[in-house]
Amino acid sequence: MKAYRCRVCSSPLYFENSICVSCGTGLGYSRAEREIVPVDRNGVYVDATGLIWHVCRNLNLSGCTWLAPLEGGQCFSCALTRTRPNDADVAGLVNFPIAERAKRHLIAELDHLGFVVAGRDAALGGDPVNGLCFDLLSSTDRSVTIGHDAGVVTIDLAESDPAYRERLRGELDEPYRTMLGHFRHEVGHYIQWQLVECAADGDLLSRSRALFGDETADYQTAIDRHYASGAPAGWELSHLTMYATMHPYEDFAETWAHYLHICDTVGTAAEYGLTAVAGVDAFSHFRDLVTGVWVPLSTALNMINRSMGKDDLYPFVIPAPVLDKLDFVASLRPAAGVA
Ligand SMILES: [Zn+2]
Ligand SMILES: [Zn+2]
Ligand SMILES: [Zn+2]
Repeated sequence: MKAYRCRVCSSPLYFENSICVSCGTGLGYSRAEREIVPVDRNGVYVDATGLIWHVCRNLNLSGCTWLAPLEGGQCFSCALTRTRPNDADVAGLVNFPIAERAKRHLIAELDHLGFVVAGRDAALGGDPVNGLCFDLLSSTDRSVTIGHDAGVVTIDLAESDPAYRERLRGELDEPYRTMLGHFRHEVGHYIQWQLVECAADGDLLSRSRALFGDETADYQTAIDRHYASGAPAGWELSHLTMYATMHPYEDFAETWAHYLHICDTVGTAAEYGLTAVAGVDAFSHFRDLVTGVWVPLSTALNMINRSMGKDDLYPFVIPAPVLDKLDFVASLRPAAGVA
């Protein structure tokens, strides 16, 4: 994540700021400029080309700080949400902003890396059938399964509640569980579907299968086996997580999520002067970034967290075969990326 500064007073800003706490200027995130820009008291920003932008209509509903092209309209990120809690769902609306915040963080990183994010609105250049969209569902009155199906990502808003999420994390014996992690993982399924399965590139598909396994393996059989007998002994020699052993789809999605964790965290460390590396583009092979920068950096960040009595920032060990998998997902990045 970039180290943003207020254009009026130069104070440092968090990505989520809607007001500069130093000078009081109203702010909005311009996806077109990838910058936080000042808005006037009506929430309006006029860019260098004369285009007029408005603060997203969901500022008060979900804390969205992005700019929208139409007055009273939604920003690009909010428009990707197909379903949100209804106005009577008090618990869902409390959890909703946390999910939307994670989604904006995800979209900003995909933009930064150069991955095309196509929604479902044809007027915005989206694909009405296969575009990406999000159902952010409340599980207070029904059961919600987090997942991806043909461009539709479903998120359980109850996972916004730290107590609920932490209980599940313990029950599932996971070292890490966050809302941002869910978004990254589920978009990994979308990326595999779009860039590997739909690519009509036999070589790409066979390389993917050689690394992750045959993704056409029956999914329900895999779930039943995983929850009956758990991960196979020695899983940590070839996978990042136990969940990744369940099915080739899950191995890809877990690997993809870690690719985004690593890109974002190394990029942030570089922006704030915590590493001398210029960013993920400093290495032509992603594995060299992982071994040369990420492993020592994440160890240091774990130690910093321990200094504050917190759990490790990155509670994972990356075995050698996962370097090959990370290299593969990194190779899917369009050449136009600017990280
Ligand atoms: Zn300021
Ligand atoms: Zn918005
Ligand atoms: Zn998954």
